[in-house]
Amino acid sequence: MSVYEKWGLAPIINVSGAVTRLGGAPMPEEVLVAFCEAARESIPLDQLQGLACRVIAEATGAEAGLVTAGAASALTLGAAAILTGYDLGRMEQLPHCHGFPNEFVMAREQRNGYDHAVRAAGVKLVEVGFHEMVAGAGVRRAEAWEYVAAFGPATAGVFYVYDAHARPPLAEVVAAAHARGLPVLVDAAGEVPPRTNLRAILAAGADLVAFSGGKGIRGPQATGILCGRRDLVGAAALQMLDMDDHFELWEPPENLIDRSRLAGLPRHGIGRGMKVSKEQIVALLTAIKLFTAGAYDRQLAELREHLAQVETALEGLPVCCRTLVPADGQSLPILEIAIDERSLGRSALEVCRRLRRGKPPVYVGHALLDEGKLVVNPLHLNAARTAVLIQRLREELTA
Ligand SMILES: *Cc1c(COP(=O)(O)O)cnc(C)c1O
Repeated sequence: MSVYEKWGLAPIINVSGAVTRLGGAPMPEEVLVAFCEAARESIPLDQLQGLACRVIAEATGAEAGLVTAGAASALTLGAAAILTGYDLGRMEQLPHCHGFPNEFVMAREQRNGYDHAVRAAGVKLVEVGFHEMVAGAGVRRAEAWEYVAAFGPATAGVFYVYDAHARPPLAEVVAAAHARGLPVLVDAAGEVPPRTNLRAILAAGADLVAFSGGKGIRGPQATGILCGRRDLVGAAALQMLDMDDHFELWEPPENLIDRSRLAGLPRHGIGRGMKVSKEQIVALLTAIKLFTAGAYDRQLAELREHLAQVETALEGLPVCCRTLVPADGQSLPILEIAIDERSLGRSALEVCRRLRRGKPPVYVGHALLDEGKLVVNPLHLNAARTAVLIQRLREELTA
């Protein structure tokens, strides 16, 4: 019996992937072991973050890194670091920014619900550009000159949401920002794999980058990475770590925090409510090692086989299946099941609802319901779950 069943709750079959709502990615056995071992002893968290700083720097090419409570938390802390630097008075004031610049310029088309994490630090977002292709009004998207036109005395930085098709290209935005001495904070939460993105986004000139620890990297769900410039990562660490110590006794790791720049200890900062535990830190570092060594690539063939079984089992039903296999050799294969809604007499939305309500509950990817498609992400699949999934899909997809 699963631990959830002991508490009276039914675990689900998750074929939506590493989504937060459903508990994130499955942690590999090695990560789970590291988590438990870390829990058995005490360790000063600033020293442990000093170690994390080295491991993350090695994995990303950054000057410094910090384990945060998710990418959203990395965005709040990264924004806070840009707003305050090592200024103790500013740290104490956040999220209020009286008397210092707090505007971040970003492309209007990159606005999304997660940017609340940036605003939470005290940032005021200033939107630029139009995505005229979406509007059907033209062929252009946000352009670098529009950022420059928006820069002014209240500008503190630039916020950029990365994906392979983001426009303008990150390097152009970085060039425009750096020409004015402005730092660029990048949200790349879900952009690994491919592994190369761990380094490429920083190499394009970003000053700070946020990654999720509990998505493609498969660390604990509530972890993330903030990496980039040492002075900014240090300012972020100062605003997250617990500050209940004597300044005279406090010896933070030099690679993470430059103690000589501080006149005293800050109070608990804006990130104090986003603390990470020693277990989470050690587990994430373990996952980063596995991820960067390519350990997850070896499962891809098996996961693809699970999808092939599903596809075969649905033959003869009013559906049309298609498996998409990314060419990078690192990202997961995905199965799309297009439903002939008329033959079935049921919409994709209704099938999705019935799958969730069944026993066990099955949560399929729901991004393409409008097109009449269910999406199956194999991240959590094994042989036993695949068998149950097939049975439930056949029940709900039989006319
Ligand atoms: C998932 C996600 C986040 C939040 O990441 P967490 O690690 O869950 O905090 C932020 N931005 C984007 C674009 C995401 O996909």
